[in-house]
Amino acid sequence: MFILNEDSQRTEGRDAQSSNIMAGKAVAESVRTTLGPRGMDKMLVDSGGEVVITNDGATILEEMDIEHPAAQMIVEVSETQEAEVGDGTTTAAVIAGNLLAEAEDLLEQDVHATTIVEGYHEAARIALDAIEDQVLDVEVDDELLAQVGKSSMTGKGTGGLTPAELAETVVTAIGHVADDDGVRRDDVSVYTQVGASSSATELVEGIVLDEEPAHDAMPSTVEDADIAILDVALEIQTGEIDAEYAIDSIDQLNAALDAEESELRGYAEEIVDSGVDVVFNTDDVDDRVASFLANEGVLVFEGLGNSDTRKIASATGARRVGALEDLDTEDFGHADRIRTDSYGDDDLAFVEGGAAAEAVTVFVRGGTDHIVDELERAVGDALDVVATARESGEVVPGAGASEIAIADRIRAKAAGIEGRSQLAVNAFADAIDVIPRTLASNTGRDPIDTLVDLRAEHESEGRAGLVTDGETVTIADPVEHGVVDPADVKREAIESAAEAATMIARIDDVIAAE
Ligand code: ADP
Ligand code: MG
Repeated sequence: MFILNEDSQRTEGRDAQSSNIMAGKAVAESVRTTLGPRGMDKMLVDSGGEVVITNDGATILEEMDIEHPAAQMIVEVSETQEAEVGDGTTTAAVIAGNLLAEAEDLLEQDVHATTIVEGYHEAARIALDAIEDQVLDVEVDDELLAQVGKSSMTGKGTGGLTPAELAETVVTAIGHVADDDGVRRDDVSVYTQVGASSSATELVEGIVLDEEPAHDAMPSTVEDADIAILDVALEIQTGEIDAEYAIDSIDQLNAALDAEESELRGYAEEIVDSGVDVVFNTDDVDDRVASFLANEGVLVFEGLGNSDTRKIASATGARRVGALEDLDTEDFGHADRIRTDSYGDDDLAFVEGGAAAEAVTVFVRGGTDHIVDELERAVGDALDVVATARESGEVVPGAGASEIAIADRIRAKAAGIEGRSQLAVNAFADAIDVIPRTLASNTGRDPIDTLVDLRAEHESEGRAGLVTDGETVTIADPVEHGVVDPADVKREAIESAAEAATMIARIDDVIAAE
């Protein structure tokens, strides 16, 4: 009896498990060479010829356009990691892939999938406990935050800027939006502008808008600015223009034009009289109004979109005003400085609040689109990890040291676990080893020898990572070299990798519609 459409494809039992596991492993394998400070980049070319060059795991997997449903689950691990903590996307995918590889071996030894799932869950719990013990017992100050930021960017294409220099900018940016209640991460934006070299990247203490003045003769800089946001069309109302009025003499025509002129001048006068210095209008501004206002030294921007308007309101405290007669100092916002500048064909406006600015922008520069795009991703990751570390105050050693400690703890606990799930618990530890192993092979070292050395050093010194410092790669205490990651990045990577791997391992029947 057939209960399925005859066109549907069905794979069952070990075949289904194998093919899913293979697909998942393949995805993880595809990002392995990008891990760590010596990780290489990938160039992805889509069918339209668009090129993306990146070292970022989540970006690579997103661009790869993966179709296999099990492979897609590993991509989701990386996406979740990006969404939750903003970094560790390669780590999470690589661990997930290796959990699957280990599961494959266990299935071949006739360990049942549910036993593997049980063992993996137990091992993940042990791993999370081990992370707790890895958390450094120090205050997370700006110096440590800069190290967290730097570690997240080492190995990325940061152009002419060192990760250390960029990390300073990132820590200052987060400092602006952090208080006792936490970090308002959304109030830090990254604005990219192709043109100058990446060393021109800077922190703007305020917001950057893709806007130009409504008139060329307007001031390009206004200091100590009172700001109004208007929703008012500053032009002759269309209704009045459409109205037919018979003009049969030059005098009448002049009178009509004078009437227009004085209406427009009236708008400008009302604005000038209110004492405002800078106007952001969501609606249009007639050239004549703009010209009157330029003469009076008022800076005006027209046709602003909703998202820019919201940003200006929150950065300056200005309230939107719907009619000129309601324009009142009470609704004004304030900025230390508003300036406009041209970058090639682009005109930008900077609304700056100085040291007290509550919304800031990392203004990323670089010679080409590819450089600024990768720099934007690197800065985005660094902002996320610095925000995460600052909020939780929890930082762990990087460079594979935490993974060595986690695997060691899991193996120690596995000895006390009865039955076959012990095999799965040990397999989990082997899968965690993939991080130091991969860091080793990506620096050109023998992964097995390095693992042995790291374990020996961990045993004797308590903390051992494969630290890349400039040109040298040594087995050392990563904390002494400032290589540290947020604890949440490690937690999330292990949890989401374990979740995806166990979900895939449990599947033994794939029914696909045509
Ligand atoms: P992910 O996408 O997982 O964040 P990365 O390519 O950013 O992948 O690599 C992150 C790993 O690189 C972390 O384990 C981190 O501790 C490690 N790392 C960062 N800087 C260094 C360094 N200077 N030496 C050794 N390892 C480092
Ligand atoms: Mg990273």
